[in-house]
Amino acid sequence: MKVVLDHLTKRFPARSKKDHDVIAVNDFNFEIPDGKLIGLLGPSGCGKSTTLNLISGLEKPTSGKIYFGEEDVTDLPPEERGVGLVFQNYALYPHLTVEQNIIFPLQNLKGEQKMTREAMHSKAMEVARLVQIDQLMERKPKELSGGQQQRVAIARALVKIPRVLLLDEPLSNLDARLRLLTREELRRIQRETGVTTIFVTHDQEEAMSISDQIVVMKDGILQQIGKPQQVYDDPVNLFVAQFLGTPQINVFEGRIQAGKVWIGEEAVLDAEGKQDGDVWAAIRPEGFIPDPQGVLTCSMDRVEVMGRDISIVSTHEKMTGRNIRSIIGAEYMPKDSSGTIRFNLKKNKVHLFDRKSEERIK
Ligand code: ATP
Repeated sequence: MKVVLDHLTKRFPARSKKDHDVIAVNDFNFEIPDGKLIGLLGPSGCGKSTTLNLISGLEKPTSGKIYFGEEDVTDLPPEERGVGLVFQNYALYPHLTVEQNIIFPLQNLKGEQKMTREAMHSKAMEVARLVQIDQLMERKPKELSGGQQQRVAIARALVKIPRVLLLDEPLSNLDARLRLLTREELRRIQRETGVTTIFVTHDQEEAMSISDQIVVMKDGILQQIGKPQQVYDDPVNLFVAQFLGTPQINVFEGRIQAGKVWIGEEAVLDAEGKQDGDVWAAIRPEGFIPDPQGVLTCSMDRVEVMGRDISIVSTHEKMTGRNIRSIIGAEYMPKDSSGTIRFNLKKNKVHLFDRKSEERIK
């Protein structure tokens, strides 16, 4: 089931004279393709949960429309939209067993949809097997680990076969290892069921690793939508470039002059045909190649060994962050971790942005 957001806007009015209106979702106009997993991504307060709440029907839009397939669902209440919802706190019923929790959404079905006890039991077993909790059906939620509880919540959201599955930070209560396992699991379940899934997270790595497409948002405004790798490789503005990737992209004050990109007094890259002016020159950590004849000279601070790779931490008077982090294969190990280090740059790992608008210069 594709989901279409058609000029969707949500404005929360100010509560007092000191307060101001918040446009949590500002004219969202895009389509989420059928059967895909989409990650909504952005810093705290950018409007991720509001977007999800609008799609689920928990919030009413100020303007704009939402379609599931060809059907306009904008005025439908949540229970008639056919969405499965999983929140950060799983909200399982503590006094019910796992099976009773999963069956819960089936119990109130009316008319033709009404199910017998046996049918509900077998349906619950089917989804429990899918999320691998079928051995735990008699337990109460407090007798389960966080990851198991989270799977029960997913099973409950899937039992009615939703048209759209909405997940709001579903992994944030889990420890790092379980989080990793569960996100892979989520991906598997999503592939097996083929349910269009919208996943909210502020964790860019999580979103990039499991999403077919990511939607990057800031202050209620959509910044970029695309496949994770494509957005990483081809960011439209400085915000997106900085938001994706760990360590963060390294940003320098630079300028374009006479067909070259300059950082300080060094010409680091060709920029033929580009207009002269001040820019942000942003270099991904994997874009640095140590070379004694290199084009960019930095002051070495330290070397951090990370197993497969090393991170050379250095500084430069034109850098904007606390330091410059470059990721280099561990086969290159500088003899000395003080003094200067020179780098050549990989052209496709350097992005230029207008100094004022922060839009990408291509
Ligand atoms: P987080 O990652 O912190 O959960 P988010 O990206 O999900 O953030 P939202 O919860 O959608 O962000 O909030 C977006 C903006 O709308 C915020 O500025 C928030 O303060 C505001 N907001 C959300 N709900 C309401 C409300 N009911 N009334 C007024 N303002 C609200």
